[in-house]
Amino acid sequence: MLLKVEELYLKKGNRQILNGVNLEVNENEIHAIIGPNGAGKSSLAYTLMGVSGYEPYKGKIVFKNVDITNKPIYERARMGLTLAWQEPARFEGITVKKYLKIGMNKKYLNNPEDKIREALDLVGLKCNKYMERFVDDSLSGGERKRIELASIICMEPDLAILDEPDSGIDMVSIDEILNVFEYLKEQGCSLLVITHREEMAKNADRTSLICNGEVILTGDPKKVSEFYRRRCGKCKFR
Ligand code: ADP
Ligand code: MG
Ligand code: MG
Repeated sequence: MLLKVEELYLKKGNRQILNGVNLEVNENEIHAIIGPNGAGKSSLAYTLMGVSGYEPYKGKIVFKNVDITNKPIYERARMGLTLAWQEPARFEGITVKKYLKIGMNKKYLNNPEDKIREALDLVGLKCNKYMERFVDDSLSGGERKRIELASIICMEPDLAILDEPDSGIDMVSIDEILNVFEYLKEQGCSLLVITHREEMAKNADRTSLICNGEVILTGDPKKVSEFYRRRCGKCKFR
């Protein structure tokens, strides 16, 4: 097992956000997380990554058999864990090419340009048009999301947590994103994908449903999606 989350509890101020999350991600697994707005999906992502302000007061996070619950974010990153934010960051003055090279897996550094081209191609961006663009407000939200995905392709982490990689990207491109997931899986990455899209949740190996800061169901993607769609009151796909 790659990631094991045991009884994780998180508070922000006096507000209870995570209520005993249990979650397992296997090696080479695409694991989708679904759940209504405000369920705690992003907070769980930050807590797993070790973002400051998201220190759990109870529970355990084990990654590659190492207890990382109290490890700083950079150590988790060094161990092969990464997070793509729901709202991707902007970097004034940094070109796409440079940005993709910064996080690149060392094994590609003898020929970074080829990998960058492959990654941009996979996320549906023309390399010649984007290589020298800046990763700032001159790019649309959708373009930044694609570049974030390209950076994961260049990085090849062991586990990438993707917070709504589909948001802000047009419907047509869902298939493109699913292609990227398959590609990453073939490279040996595992993915924890937070999504509101039923197509995406259904294409995972397993899906977990999070509700009120708790994973209430994990299993076959089609069954969990079905449960969410039919049975879960306010909990519905968009
Ligand atoms: P999701 O990603 O599932 O939509 P979030 O993790 O963003 O959910 O939020 C979970 C809950 O935590 C929400 O009720 C939200 O209002 C609350 N929350 C998120 N961030 C903070 C914060 N910094 N301070 C207080 N409450 C927060
Ligand atoms: Mg939300
Ligand atoms: Mg969120």
